[in-house]
Amino acid sequence: MKFSKSLIGTLRQDPREAESKSHRILLRGGFIRQLAAGIHTYLPLGWRVLRRIEQIIREEHERIGAQELLMPAMSPSELWEKSGRWEEYGDDMFRFKDRKGRDYCLCPTHEEVVTEIARAKVRSYRDLPQSWFQIQTKFRDELRPRFGVIRSRQFIMKDSYSLDRDETGLEKSYQLHKEAYIRIFTRCGIDFEMVQASGGVMGTGQSHEFIARVDGGEATIVACSSCDYRADIEGAQTGGTFAGFEDMPVTEIHTPDVGTISEVSSFLKVPCQQLVKSIIFTAPGKKPLLMLLRGDYEINEDVVKNRFGFSYRPATRDEILAVSGVEPGFIGPTGTYSVDIYADDLLKKATGMITGANKNNYHVKGLNISRDAKVKEYFNMRVPKAGDICTQCGSPVELYNALELGQIFKLGTKYSERLGATFLDEKGAEKPVIMGSYGIGLERIMACVCEQKADERGAVWPISISPYDVYLVVLNPAEEEVSACAGRISKALTEADFSIIIDDRDISAGIKFNDSDLLGIPLRVTIGPRGIKNGKFDVSLRESGEVSAVSEDAVVKLCQDHKAALLKKLEK
Ligand code: ATP
Ligand code: MG
Repeated sequence: MKFSKSLIGTLRQDPREAESKSHRILLRGGFIRQLAAGIHTYLPLGWRVLRRIEQIIREEHERIGAQELLMPAMSPSELWEKSGRWEEYGDDMFRFKDRKGRDYCLCPTHEEVVTEIARAKVRSYRDLPQSWFQIQTKFRDELRPRFGVIRSRQFIMKDSYSLDRDETGLEKSYQLHKEAYIRIFTRCGIDFEMVQASGGVMGTGQSHEFIARVDGGEATIVACSSCDYRADIEGAQTGGTFAGFEDMPVTEIHTPDVGTISEVSSFLKVPCQQLVKSIIFTAPGKKPLLMLLRGDYEINEDVVKNRFGFSYRPATRDEILAVSGVEPGFIGPTGTYSVDIYADDLLKKATGMITGANKNNYHVKGLNISRDAKVKEYFNMRVPKAGDICTQCGSPVELYNALELGQIFKLGTKYSERLGATFLDEKGAEKPVIMGSYGIGLERIMACVCEQKADERGAVWPISISPYDVYLVVLNPAEEEVSACAGRISKALTEADFSIIIDDRDISAGIKFNDSDLLGIPLRVTIGPRGIKNGKFDVSLRESGEVSAVSEDAVVKLCQDHKAALLKKLEK
């Protein structure tokens, strides 16, 4: 491909809208272009990277016996109503009506559609196991589209789904996907880890995420400082015990206009650990819940939703007033309003605590949770913090940022039961199909490689996913001898199966070298009058900067050796 004829448009300056390292490089190198918030065009270079990632993903799924199909990007609402997710998915789902007024969505994921196919196609245990995958565009109206293609509203996902007759089968499918994922991220040159995860809106079964440590990552990982415990904070749990403070009778204290944890803590000169957060959750048509949590922790909403239903959300001020009759900062468990009370397990033995008195401008002190609050059940509902105790080994945990690249879930029978995807077992009994679902974000792989590998000069693509293998810098392309030599070398490289980009532009050598660094093509061959005169051409490696000067007929062989060595490095 000739640079002079291409749509590649590199930028000299860092674009102002860039929000992260990868975003900056992808925009500057002309890999992507934003159309609107979270909506992008993949320009030819970016699309080539994505297609190569796609091919690796395809090969590794075919290797585990998965079959590729393509489901529609839009779906009628009925399927989602059956699964309960027409409501659960909330504002993240793009919805629209057709000309007849029927409701549709742009699919944010495809469990419902797959289950509908399974309902129609799977009859007997002999049809199982099945594993289906697609590489397709997903739509999610993210609250905060950010970091270019990392959190966008339209993105490409590989999603696969396993269908099995029993738990043993599901475990096998899950393991196969885990192995495929490990091979995919390794081949893409990513430094990744696998961590425990929560199912979120997918379900409550076992789940793992594949994450990469990057500075701007939006996922937070809880990692034990001594054992192998690693979990996404959304699903992580830490242990520990808490005895509370001096036991005393409950008394009211006047706390005028002092409502938040930090305000109360400084007003009363007590540590946040002595305060109890009282948080009301409401859901349409369901009884409100009151959650009690030590003041220095945040509540894990996913835990509450998974336990009580996805329609539960922290109540708004108006809802709090309607339920309890008092302002948000002053609610507490000692009031006489109709809620079910649950408490974080750290509060089980807590005495001498302080919380809202359920009366405006008042708190109570001396609260002994088990004595004074009608707690229905204690469970771990807190978001872990650095320094908490690991549940596996008792050592302190650490927190770090990461980017989620993929996630695998054991769905079980949630969707098959709700959508009626059943099969007849050996004895003729009708059973729900046992499902798994597995996703990878393609753009996130592309961005992650930039985050992890790029240097101050630009991208450094692993040869497995690079848009081209070789960048041919042609100096003084108007000189006949130079263009003839460039023609011979590019022909030889193409015949040896290299993809090449020929920089034949009539501009300075400096710009060409800078652009070749910015675009991050792994191999560079320089052809110019000096090389022709000396009979030696520079072949250099983007990653290490290593340069060798070789004769014209040795260029292809050296490129082949380099390519083989670079590919070998990606096998580990
Ligand atoms: P996140 O927690 O980052 O919002 P998710 O857990 O909602 O992601 P999944 O439903 O597990 O995402 O989707 C599978 C994969 O699709 C993710 O691991 C990620 O690589 C990719 N992905 C999800 N949302 C986006 C998005 N908004 N933009 C780009 N890629 C995404
Ligand atoms: Mg996920």
